[in-house]
Amino acid sequence: MFNFNNTYTKLPGMFYSRQQPAQNPLAGMVYFNEILANKLRIDINLQNSPKIFSGDELPKNAAPISQAYAGFQYGRFNVLGDGRAVILGEHITPNGERFDIQLKGSGRTHYSRGGDGLAALAPMLREVLISEFLAAVNIPTTRSLAVVTTGKDVVRERVLQGAVLTRIASSHIRVGTFDFARLMGSADDVKALADYVIWRHFPHIETYNDNHRYLLLLREAADLQAKLIAQWMNIGFVHGVMNTDNMSICGETIDLGPCAFMDAYDPETVFSSIDQHGRYSYKNQPAIGGWNLARFSESLLPLLSKDKAEAVKLAEIEINLYATKFDEYWLDEMRGKMGFVGEDSLDAQLARDLLEIMYFNKLDFTNTFNTFANSESGNCNSPLQEWLSNWEARLKRHGQNVGDAQKNIRQHNPAVIPRNHFVQASLDAAENGDFKPFSELLYALCNPYTFNGKFSTSSSEKYVTFCGT
Ligand code: AMP
Ligand code: MG
Repeated sequence: MFNFNNTYTKLPGMFYSRQQPAQNPLAGMVYFNEILANKLRIDINLQNSPKIFSGDELPKNAAPISQAYAGFQYGRFNVLGDGRAVILGEHITPNGERFDIQLKGSGRTHYSRGGDGLAALAPMLREVLISEFLAAVNIPTTRSLAVVTTGKDVVRERVLQGAVLTRIASSHIRVGTFDFARLMGSADDVKALADYVIWRHFPHIETYNDNHRYLLLLREAADLQAKLIAQWMNIGFVHGVMNTDNMSICGETIDLGPCAFMDAYDPETVFSSIDQHGRYSYKNQPAIGGWNLARFSESLLPLLSKDKAEAVKLAEIEINLYATKFDEYWLDEMRGKMGFVGEDSLDAQLARDLLEIMYFNKLDFTNTFNTFANSESGNCNSPLQEWLSNWEARLKRHGQNVGDAQKNIRQHNPAVIPRNHFVQASLDAAENGDFKPFSELLYALCNPYTFNGKFSTSSSEKYVTFCGT
C-alpha cells in the first residue's frame, strides 16, 4: 500500500483540518501511473482498488487532512485552503523521500467556501498529460498517480463527469501557506512553519544558527524558483495563475489548471480567460516569480533580523539575487536549446536575436529549434538564414561541428509538447468514453525527445483556458 508517516499535523492546528474525503462508492479507474508507482514503491495492485483513489476506502495509516493557506490572487490577499483536496498522508520511499498523496476533487472540505469540492474528468486528465510531460523533460512538478471517475455529475457551464485525481507532491506547502501564517497567525506560527519547511525540504541548512538559516531558506527557495521559471520559459510554458497560493515552496510546478504551451513565439501570450490584463502572461512570469518571493520574504522578515531595516535590506539582496540567477539559468537553458557547449559572450545576444526573428515571423517556439536541429547546414528557411551563419560562427569559435550541435539541440528541445489542439481532442474523446487518443498522446508526451509524426505539428488557433475547472 502506502508507507505513511505523517508529520504535517505536528504543526499548529491553524495549518490544517482533519478531513474525511466524501463518499464516491461508484468509482471507476480510468488512469493509473504504473511507472510512477514503481518508482515510488507504491503497490501497483492498488490500481484494482478504485475506492482508495476516490476516498471511499482509507489506506492503512492514512490521516486525512486538508491544508489551510492563503494567497495573493491577482495581487489581492485572500484566505483560501484546500477547497477540493484531501491529503491522505505522507508516503516514504525506500530511499527516504517524502511525498504527499493527495486526492483532488473528492468533495467539499472545511475550506470549500462556495465551491462544490469537485473536479471534472477532462481537467484531471489534462493535469495528467501536463504533469507527466513536465516530469519527462525534467522540470520539477507535482505528479499524477491515478484518476478515477466518481459516477457523480459536476455542474459547470454544462454537466460533466466527476473525477478524482491522485496528485503526488514533495509537499503542498506554498508561498501562500506563509502568507496565511503571517497575516492570520502569530510570529511563532511563521517560525514553526519555516522550521518545518527547512526540516522537510532543506535539511542541509538546519544546522545554521537561527537568523542565518532563515536567510538561507529564502535564498534556496528563490533559487529553486529562478531555475523552475527559467525552465518554464524555455519550453514555452505559461502557468497562467501564478498566485502565491500556486507557488510551491519546494520549487515544483503546481496547479496545472489554466496552464498551456505557446505555439508561435509571442511574449504576450496569455491563455487564461480571466487574465484580462496579462498579469500572468508568458513574459511576465520571471517578474511575478520575484513579486511572489517578495511576499515570501515579508513573511520571513522577523526571522531574518531583530532590526527591521536590516531584515528588509537582507531580503532585498536575496530578491535581487533571484533576478540575476534567473538570467543565468535562462541563458544556460538557452545554450542547450541552441546546441552550444561552453560559454560565449555573444550567447545572450544570439538567443535574443533568435527570439526576435521568431516573434516577427510568427515562428513556432518549439519547432524552430527542431527545424534547424534536423536540416542540412545552410538549408534552413529564410528568416533564419543570417542568424544561422552567426550560429555557425559561434560553433566554430568553440570547436563544435554542426552535427554535434544539432544532436545537442535534439537532446535539449522536445520534439513533442502538449499542444493545445491535441490535448483538447484527446480530452474530448475521453469524455465520450474513448481513451485511445489520451493514451497515445500521453505516451508521446512521456517520450518527448522522440519525433512523433502525429503530435509534433503546431496550431495557430487561439486557445483559452479556465480556472477552477
Ligand atoms: P485554484 O484556482 O485551483 O488555485 O484554486 C483557488 C482556490 O479555490 C483554492 O482554495 C481551491 O481549493 C479553491 N477551489 C477551486 N475549485 C474549487 C471547487 N470546485 N470547490 C471548492 N473549492 C475550490
Ligand atoms: Mg491553487
